[in-house]
Amino acid sequence: VAIFEKSHLNSGASGRCGGGIRQQWSTEDNIDLMKESARQFARFPQEVGFNNWFRQGGYLFLLYSDDQLAQFEKIVALQNSCGVPTRILSVAEIRRLVPELNTDGVVAGTYHKGDGSFFPFAVVWGYAEAIRRMGGRIHTFTEVVGFETILDRITAVETNRGKFECDIVVNACGVDSPKLAEFVGEKLPNEPEKHEIIATQPLRIFLKTAVIPMDTSLFVTQMLRGEVVSCVGLPKRQEPNIKGSLEFLKYISGILCRLFPRLSGVSILRHWAGYYDITPDTNPILGPLGKWSNFYQLSGFMGHGFMMAPAVGRRYAEWILFGKHGDWVDRFRHDRFEKGKLDTESMIIG
Ligand SMILES: Cc1cc2nc3c(=O)[nH]c(=O)nc-3n(C[C@H](O)[C@H](O)[C@H](O)COP(=O)(O)OP(=O)(O)OC[C@H]3O[C@@H](n4cnc5c(N)ncnc54)[C@H](O)[C@@H]3O)c2cc1C
Repeated sequence: VAIFEKSHLNSGASGRCGGGIRQQWSTEDNIDLMKESARQFARFPQEVGFNNWFRQGGYLFLLYSDDQLAQFEKIVALQNSCGVPTRILSVAEIRRLVPELNTDGVVAGTYHKGDGSFFPFAVVWGYAEAIRRMGGRIHTFTEVVGFETILDRITAVETNRGKFECDIVVNACGVDSPKLAEFVGEKLPNEPEKHEIIATQPLRIFLKTAVIPMDTSLFVTQMLRGEVVSCVGLPKRQEPNIKGSLEFLKYISGILCRLFPRLSGVSILRHWAGYYDITPDTNPILGPLGKWSNFYQLSGFMGHGFMMAPAVGRRYAEWILFGKHGDWVDRFRHDRFEKGKLDTESMIIG
């Protein structure tokens, strides 16, 4: 296996993500994938030999209307039927769980204690070390600039540092994947969407669970090292620059200080941006692409690709090596857009 990365490891969305993993989703496929990933994150230090700073403090969704509650009751029933023991919490239970939270306007919440957080850089470094140990090669600062083809096969990957013959190509270039697909005449529907995120100075631990108020879809959690990490979506985020904006800082500070009054006056130490790799139905695009027999797609991971990576990675490897895959793959193939078989995920946040 050879991996080509045009910059350094973690330079794309993976090194810009919030490090959250939850099993609270609204489709069976996503619930199933995140359940498997959570188990893999828990075993990661033993299996991969690297500390991924994984902590299962739970995710708490805050609901602000009876309509929202009715919608979440159905979603929680689905999660329970898939073996995820999410519970509906009363406001009194929410206050006991997160005493410093402002619950004004909250009518109820949903909570699953098996959800949690990890340190994204460490996960990528751990996997990279494991790949090298097993004989794989990682070529950083090596940009893929084209492919050599014969009939329906890719025969070589062309990079700015030379040509590499290949049996199978997997295009996992995140928001840049459409460019690589174009090299072989294929079109992907993905669009980049800018998202910003902050980390505060480290504070004594006061927030063990991740909190998502559904009036804004903000995400906030406190990492093991004490910093509060938070992100929230702003409308119209197709800008080509990847810089943090003052507009975002004002917006997120207002929401955070309303939610946790104790955060007023706390310093924001880091503020950065990255791209969600958006697909029309909010699900990834996996599997062979177009007319090619050995060109595979692995992108379109929206704002929840890191948490599903362990499960998708393992299943994808089995698919490529042994041709073995379950039904879930059919729902994530590229041709679903032509067939019109779309199953949209409704619990997208951040
Ligand atoms: C602000 C923010 C917060 C997020 N929070 C979470 C979260 O809490 N939990 C979660 O699960 N997900 C989260 N996500 C989403 C998650 O980060 C992504 O879904 C995931 O990291 C995508 O991984 P990827 O490997 O597909 O893409 P990337 O990590 O972007 O990797 C693609 C790589 O391809 C390289 N590349 C591009 N073109 C070429 C080329 N021509 N040749 C060689 N290399 C190339 C790029 O340099 C890049 O490093 C968040 C994303 C953002 C932006």
